[in-house]
Amino acid sequence: MQQRILIVEDEQGLRLTLSDRLRSEGYEVDTASDGAEGYERASKLLFDLIVLDLMLPEKSGLDVCRDLRRMGVTTPVLMLTALSQTHDKVVGLKIGADDYLTKPFEMVELLARIEALLRRQDTPSRPPSSAYQFGAVRVDVRSTQAYRDEKEVTLSAKEFTLLRYLLEHRGETLSREKLLHEVWGYDNMPSTRTVDVHVAWLRQKLEEDPKKPRWILTVHGIGYKFAEQKEPADPIMGV
Ligand code: CA
Repeated sequence: MQQRILIVEDEQGLRLTLSDRLRSEGYEVDTASDGAEGYERASKLLFDLIVLDLMLPEKSGLDVCRDLRRMGVTTPVLMLTALSQTHDKVVGLKIGADDYLTKPFEMVELLARIEALLRRQDTPSRPPSSAYQFGAVRVDVRSTQAYRDEKEVTLSAKEFTLLRYLLEHRGETLSREKLLHEVWGYDNMPSTRTVDVHVAWLRQKLEEDPKKPRWILTVHGIGYKFAEQKEPADPIMGV
């Protein structure tokens, strides 16, 4: 079955380019040219994915995304942002966007992100989860809260976004550069030390022994990965 994508973008040229390209890739495409119209369509019709520009007339992309999530619409949202809107990207992820892409972008990159989001949606083993549990820690993505032994842990917006990203890519080795790009939205940061510092903070807050992390693991020479969920050890074994 053809997958349906809604494009909400006020720049006419880009809207046309995107729709033409996505149609030629076999998607069924619907478009809206401002936020109010986008919200209207997305809340009434079924789509497999929404490409949502951040800066829109009538209703901003952030408001559209937030209101859709509040309504319980879980359609994956790929947000389009300008370079200067780095802060908004993080806000976007916090309020329920699934991914973002910085303008100007390569069409192949957009297609890859769309495919990845649709695949994630299709894989029953990894649904777009709204809650995660590891050890004594529970993470509620909707309310952006983390709990350890059911006590609330205070995380900064960046720490939360990083944690969520790690959890969503559980078991994958993630380079520092990739994390910087995905979580911070920078391609040319002076140092990847930022990532290390935030990882250290997360470990401090969430790991039982931050010096011997069980969940947020270091992959030497590359970056980090979140440990795969293991079955609880069989208590008979090794006795
Ligand atoms: Ca715009």
